[in-house]
Amino acid sequence: MDIFCKIISGEIPAYKLYEDDIVLAFLDINPQTNGHTLIIPKKHFLDIDDIDNETLKKITETARYIKKLISSKLDCDGITFVQNNGECEEVKHYHLHVIPHYKEKQELLDVIDVYNKLKDENLKEK
Ligand SMILES: [Zn+2]
Repeated sequence: MDIFCKIISGEIPAYKLYEDDIVLAFLDINPQTNGHTLIIPKKHFLDIDDIDNETLKKITETARYIKKLISSKLDCDGITFVQNNGECEEVKHYHLHVIPHYKEKQELLDVIDVYNKLKDENLKEK
């Protein structure tokens, strides 16, 4: 079982920012920048060729929500979305990277500190 399936099953903990029946968004524990988030489908899909359109739509809606959350809480200057396939994909479970960009170089904070900035009152539930 890959690490993302283990996070979904609860075997491995994660700093969750959003969760529903279809998708899960959580902070990357090896962030490129503060607020680097991963959005994954709860059902296992390998990559962009494997995932269905309905799930992709959920991922995109979640990406929009996470972008808003990060922008309002972390004062970043832009946000990049990255989705890797084939050899570029480290964990073989579809995932979308949400990577905040800062004009001025930021010192990387502990992920828990970033989580505390993001999470209050914002864990969206449906
Ligand atoms: Zn998986």
